[in-house]
Amino acid sequence: MCRHLAYLGPPVTLAEMVLLGPHSLLHQSWAPREMRGGGTINADGFGVGWIDTETGGAARRYRREIPIWSDASLPDLAASVSSGAILAAVRSATVGMPVTHTACAPFVEGPWMFSHNGVVAGWPASVAVLADDLLAVDLMTLCAPTDSAFLWALVRQRLGEGQSAARALAGVADEVLALAPGSRLNLLLNDGVTIAATTAGHALWYRQGDRSVTVSSEPIDPDQEGWQPVPELSLLEATASQCSIQSLDNPATKDGHERAKS
Ligand code: GLN
Repeated sequence: MCRHLAYLGPPVTLAEMVLLGPHSLLHQSWAPREMRGGGTINADGFGVGWIDTETGGAARRYRREIPIWSDASLPDLAASVSSGAILAAVRSATVGMPVTHTACAPFVEGPWMFSHNGVVAGWPASVAVLADDLLAVDLMTLCAPTDSAFLWALVRQRLGEGQSAARALAGVADEVLALAPGSRLNLLLNDGVTIAATTAGHALWYRQGDRSVTVSSEPIDPDQEGWQPVPELSLLEATASQCSIQSLDNPATKDGHERAKS
C-alpha cells in the first residue's frame, strides 16, 4: 500500500496539497484509513512532483527515502512552491523491493508525472514477456528494480507512441492483469492538463472543486463535501473542469496497441 494524489487547478502550495489537510498525505503516511491488502504505514519514502504552470515545461520533483514526517526541510520547501499541477506519493515498499529514493513516485519525463499504488503479482516472472515491448536502453535505465518502475517504463513507451494518458494506463493495466491476475494496479498520471487513473485493488477518491480536481487514495479533507469514491476496476480521466469514469473492462478503454503490433 502506498498512498498517492494528483491535483489540477489554480496554483496551491505543495504544503496545502501534501502536508496541511486534516487527512493530508502526511497524515495518511502514518494513519491511513483504507488499507486493503497489507501494510500499515507508508514510511519507505515519499515524493512530490509539480509543474510550473506559469511557464509550463517539465515536471520537477523532490524525493527522499525517509518517512515524510521525518524530513524537517520539507515544510519550508512545500510552503514556498506553488503549482496548478501536482502529483505526490508516500511509499510502503513491497517486500523484497529496495528502499531508495529512486523507487519513490513520481516517476517523471517531460510534463508526465506517474505513480503506482499496488503490486504486480508474481513479479518479475509473470510479466517478463512485456519487457519485449521495451527498448533495451529503457530496460537498462529503469529508475529502480521495482514493479512500479517497470510499469512506468511500459506507460512511458505508450505515451511516446502518442497514446493519451488514459489509454496508456488502461492498456498497461489490461495487459498486466491478464498476465498477472490479482495484481493491484492503482495507476495515476498527471501531465498538467489531464489526470488519468486506474483502480484495481486499492481505494481511490476524487473531488471536483471550483475549477479544480483532486484525485487521492483517501480524501485529504474528508469534512469537505464532494468527495466521490472511484469504483473498483475503473478508468478515471479528469481535467480541472470535468471528470469521467468508465469501466476498465469497457472495450472503449482499450487501444490498438496489440493490434498495431500484429
Ligand atoms: N510495489 C510498489 C513499490 O514497492 C508500490 C508499493 C505500494 O503501493 N505499497 O514501490
